[in-house]
Amino acid sequence: AGYIIGIKLGDAQHTAALADFTGTMVADVTIRHARNSRSMADVLDEIETLIEALLDKAGMQLSAVHGIGVGMAGIIGHETGIVHWSPLLDARDQPFGDAFEARLGRPVFLENDANMLTMAELWFGAGRGLRDFAVVTIENGVGMGLVLDNQLYRGSFGMGLELGHTKVQMDGALCRCGQRGCLEAYLSDYALVREGATALNLAPEAKAGFQVVLSDLLKEAQNGNIAARKVFQRAGRFLALGLSNVIHLFDPALIILSGDRMTHDFMFEETVVEDVQALCLSRGQMPCQIKVHSGGDLDWARGATARALSEVTHDLFNGD
Ligand code: BGC
Ligand code: ZN
Repeated sequence: AGYIIGIKLGDAQHTAALADFTGTMVADVTIRHARNSRSMADVLDEIETLIEALLDKAGMQLSAVHGIGVGMAGIIGHETGIVHWSPLLDARDQPFGDAFEARLGRPVFLENDANMLTMAELWFGAGRGLRDFAVVTIENGVGMGLVLDNQLYRGSFGMGLELGHTKVQMDGALCRCGQRGCLEAYLSDYALVREGATALNLAPEAKAGFQVVLSDLLKEAQNGNIAARKVFQRAGRFLALGLSNVIHLFDPALIILSGDRMTHDFMFEETVVEDVQALCLSRGQMPCQIKVHSGGDLDWARGATARALSEVTHDLFNGD
């Protein structure tokens, strides 16, 4: 029997899932790693360890794996395997797909991470049967995927649907892409950490540590701390701004909100929908549905198995 692997690369952890040809998940693993921008070789080392752990767990050999789908943040050449830019890598235009295949000797399919998640929603999730829908992800980056006419929309150069880097402020806050005023710089985890450290008088990120500030902020907000809540309310208003832009651009039937941050209710108080309504031309009768669906990293990895599966079965049926 044949298997495929789907991987979600992240800046704090990587997740890999093993699935059979029916798309049924067989095993999965998650490995945390140091949060630094790293060389391609470093990341490939991490992936090799991840895959070994996955195959170990499933009691399986790499030879049974017909393809590996990999979702990662950034501008990804989904056909060339070239990573033109990624917040996970310290250099541009890296031949990631080829280097990966050379190491493992298995076919590798690279894709933007949010696109991968969108494939999961299309194949297995809340997007099944919908002609047009969008997925917006919020964690240490803000990503987006779009299905138009039942197909994943990919654009021309891999720079489309980078909702996180659409500008919402002239000369605004610094984004991890190096530019200013990006939506992500007001909505992502690092924006929350920046605002949270000030609001709660915590030591700056460098001293207290990113994860510490983030989890403190989440805890305080959960406990009803007003200053902490305000940080999320402000982020929520930026979220609404971004979503109203998505609606005016694409008019999707549904927007699925996903990513780690959406597992916290206070990111999605009723006010976000109200704010979106207020920003849309349709006003009160906004036809687009907005719903939270966040199954964690495994959903993204599952989308990566979907990509690998569609490539591998296509090759099988076409005799390649
Ligand atoms: C990247 C996107 C990615 C998103 C979520 C953003 O910073 O530019 O490509 O989809 O983060 O990881
Ligand atoms: Zn940016």
